[in-house]
Amino acid sequence: MITWLHRAGQWTCWMSWLAWLAAPAPAAVPHVLHISVDAMSALYLKSYVSNNPAVFPNFRRLEQQAAFTYNARCDYDYSETIPNHITMLTGRPVSQPAGQPATTHHGFNQNMPTAGATIHANGNPAVPYKSSSLDMVHDRGMSVTILLGKSRLAICTNSYSAVNGAADTEGVDNGRKKFDRGVAMDMPSPNYGKAFVDEVSTSLAGTPANFTFLHIVDPDTVGHASGWGTAAWSNSMIRVDGYLGQLFTAIDGNPALAGKLAMIIVGDHGGTGSTHTDATQIYNYTVPMFVWGPGFSPGSDLYGYFTNRANPGTLRGDYGADMPALRNGDTANLAMALLGLPVIPGSYFQPALAFPGASRPCLALYPAPGAARLCVGWPASTNLVLEYSDSIGTNTQWLRVTQQITSDGTNNLLNVVPNPATAGRYYRLRQN
Ligand SMILES: [Zn+2]
Repeated sequence: MITWLHRAGQWTCWMSWLAWLAAPAPAAVPHVLHISVDAMSALYLKSYVSNNPAVFPNFRRLEQQAAFTYNARCDYDYSETIPNHITMLTGRPVSQPAGQPATTHHGFNQNMPTAGATIHANGNPAVPYKSSSLDMVHDRGMSVTILLGKSRLAICTNSYSAVNGAADTEGVDNGRKKFDRGVAMDMPSPNYGKAFVDEVSTSLAGTPANFTFLHIVDPDTVGHASGWGTAAWSNSMIRVDGYLGQLFTAIDGNPALAGKLAMIIVGDHGGTGSTHTDATQIYNYTVPMFVWGPGFSPGSDLYGYFTNRANPGTLRGDYGADMPALRNGDTANLAMALLGLPVIPGSYFQPALAFPGASRPCLALYPAPGAARLCVGWPASTNLVLEYSDSIGTNTQWLRVTQQITSDGTNNLLNVVPNPATAGRYYRLRQN
């Protein structure tokens, strides 16, 4: 039996050599709600929820039901809204990481785009078109809603409009516009997020879009006006808690969504004082990340679900780390994985999901120690065997890998030395 395989972002140059089987993601669901809470500073939120859980019942619910961390990161170089949202849609970092190709980053580092700007024309010129999560969902005939609470975020909708979106070459032509409904507008004070939350809640009572991207602006607007960590800012997070409660009520009230919807909740950046522009500041670069849905154990550590991510402690973490931090940029492909879709073309952030202790283990790529460039790993606590084949066809011969397998206690590991002179090798896990 073939289970699913994952690939890690750092190794895209080897993808032609190591061809991976397309396969369903763990816990694929037909609906994903990807929520970006603007300037949701993890360090403040964590202490609020801990010190006063009664006024944060829905963040408490997430702590109890979701896999989560209060220690994810925004983009390494920019802790600003527009660059980070493009990152959360494309799975690309803002700037070119050291040692990575010039085609890695989206390159749009401005937080005040000019009207009509697009990610494609105004970002990294080495990537003429930057594919996004919206493309992936839409091009496969699934529905997309994107609601953005800042008019400046119109660069996101404008980039994937009927004019600027790429031709849909995936199966049926669903057109260039990559969303069914897309809005970017400055929302009325003081309950900035409410109109969008009302709209999403209404959709959740019926048939929501397959992919909904919802941006909630309240804590950013309040943070700039009154300061992060102030009573006013705390109140804005209580309001966000209420929005989440409204969404939970809608989800709970629709039996058709039971087991069919996953939610990702993340910050685009944090904030402290009255700003968040300094990307080296721990309050700015530290954001929470919650993943709520089938397969994610109640109250579990989100880092435990990824074979190629590690908690950075208090470090800002850089892109060159062997085991980088979870970043908001990971949520683009995480959303795709939850929907059972492949990774976004050209994306850099490719978190490898592996459900710990679950009955659905997967292969993952690791950076290998020593000279070898890749390491294939899978959970040791299973009776799966690793097999390989040098070609895939109607009479594929799978051979069991019996030598050079090591273990780190949790995973079995096989170092792989890619040989560009040969055609590549496929691996699979089989139940023994
Ligand atoms: Zn801001």
